[in-house]
Amino acid sequence: MKNKEKIDVHQQSMDEAYEEWLKHTETWDKDVFFDHLDFIHRVAVALGNLNYQVGNGGFSQWHDNGYSESHYDFLSRLDTKEYSQLTEGLALMRKAYSELKNNNIRRADRGYDDDEDRESSVTDQCDTAYYKLKNIEKEMNEYLISLQKKDSRCWAQVGEDWCNNKAVKGDYCKKHQDLAK
Ligand SMILES: [Zn+2]
Repeated sequence: MKNKEKIDVHQQSMDEAYEEWLKHTETWDKDVFFDHLDFIHRVAVALGNLNYQVGNGGFSQWHDNGYSESHYDFLSRLDTKEYSQLTEGLALMRKAYSELKNNNIRRADRGYDDDEDRESSVTDQCDTAYYKLKNIEKEMNEYLISLQKKDSRCWAQVGEDWCNNKAVKGDYCKKHQDLAK
């Protein structure tokens, strides 16, 4: 049971998704690739890219590299309320995106492109707040595990038996969440 929890489902799902892309690199761009994935692999890819891009260069890098265009709508619809840091991370994404989009509009209005307001204080604040979410990768993984096991049952031992209530997060029910560490 302990080993099972340690499996990096997020990395595994991303590897599976990108393996599929490798077979079609000549005909699939990143949006066609995304459209071909099932729900869980889409979640893995969209969250993985968000975390990687923001980790490297902040929300502005994620936006400038085209990921907001491909993944924003999808990510903003995910139901992650059981996962507080992940939910907070996605709220920061919404806030940063709205600012970055406005910057694009302002630049277009001026009729020229410069980097003057690219790093606004709002997106900087979102980056800083995101970097404080130390458990966000762990929660992304747990969220993916929960999607894989929508109907899974609680693994907590009760007497001689498993608890067997419906698991709501990781492998445990609401009552046994403290074991999900
Ligand atoms: Zn339980």
